[in-house]
Amino acid sequence: RASVKKITTSSQALDGLLGGGIETRTMTELFGEFGSGKTQICHQISVNVQLPPEKGGLAGKALYIDTEGTFRTERIRAMASALGLDPKEALSNIMSIRAINTDHQIAIVEELQDLIAKDDRIKLVVVDSVTSHFRAEYSGRENLAARQQKLNRHLHQLVRLAEIYDLAVVVTNQVMARPDMFYGDPTVAVGGHTLYHVPGIRVQIKKSRGNRRIARMVDAPHLPEGEVVFSITNVGIRD
Ligand code: ADP
Ligand code: MG
Repeated sequence: RASVKKITTSSQALDGLLGGGIETRTMTELFGEFGSGKTQICHQISVNVQLPPEKGGLAGKALYIDTEGTFRTERIRAMASALGLDPKEALSNIMSIRAINTDHQIAIVEELQDLIAKDDRIKLVVVDSVTSHFRAEYSGRENLAARQQKLNRHLHQLVRLAEIYDLAVVVTNQVMARPDMFYGDPTVAVGGHTLYHVPGIRVQIKKSRGNRRIARMVDAPHLPEGEVVFSITNVGIRD
C-alpha cells in the first residue's frame, strides 16, 4: 500500500476520515440521499486532483462520467478560483462525458482504458451516479439479478482501471432516506444494497443542519470506522 496516493477533499475532517484523502488504486463509493453532497464532492476532487502534490493533489486530470446531467462548469470554475487555479485551465483538465443509458455508460468505461493508457496525467475517474441508469432500466424484482450482474461487471471493470493505472475511482450511489437506513443498517438502500460485493471504500454522506454534512466510513478494509462533519460552501467542500 506504500504507493497509494491521496487527493485532498478540501476538508481536513473528511481527509482524516479517508486516511489522508481519496486514494488511488481503489474505488471509493459515496452513498447517500438526494442533496447530501455526493456531486459536490465529485466536483471538488475533480478540481483538487489538479493541485500540485504539496497542496494535496496529483498534478493530474479528471474524467467525469455524468449520468444525471448534474455536472456544472460554473461550479468547477468557482471551486478552482477559490484554490488559486485558473478556472479555464481547471475546466480543460476535466473531461466530462454524459452517459445516456447503461450500455453507453459501460461502453464509455471500456473505451477509457485506451484514453488512460495514452495520457498518464489522468488520475481520477468519477462516475456520478454509477447506479441511476441501472435502477431506471432494470426496475422491478424480476430484473434485480440481471441488474446486479451487469452492474457488478461494470464496477469490477472500474476497480481494475484504478489498480492497473494507479488512479482514483469515485462512484456515487443515491440511496433513499429511511429511518432504518440512517440509524440502523446503512446497507438497506433503495433496490436492496450499496455496492457491497465490490472491493473498495464506502462512505455514507448524510445531511445535517444547514450546509453541514456528516460523512461516515462504512466497512473499510484498512481504515477505522467513524464519523466526521464537513460543510458545503459557495467555494466548495470545507471543514
Ligand atoms: P447529491 O449529489 O448527493 O444529490 P449535491 O452534491 O448535488 O447532492 O448537493 C446539493 C447541495 O449542495 C445543495 O442542497 C446545496 O446545499 C449544496 N450546494 C450546491 N451548490 C452550492 C453552492 N454554489 N453554494 C453552496 N452550496 C451549494
Ligand atoms: Mg448528485
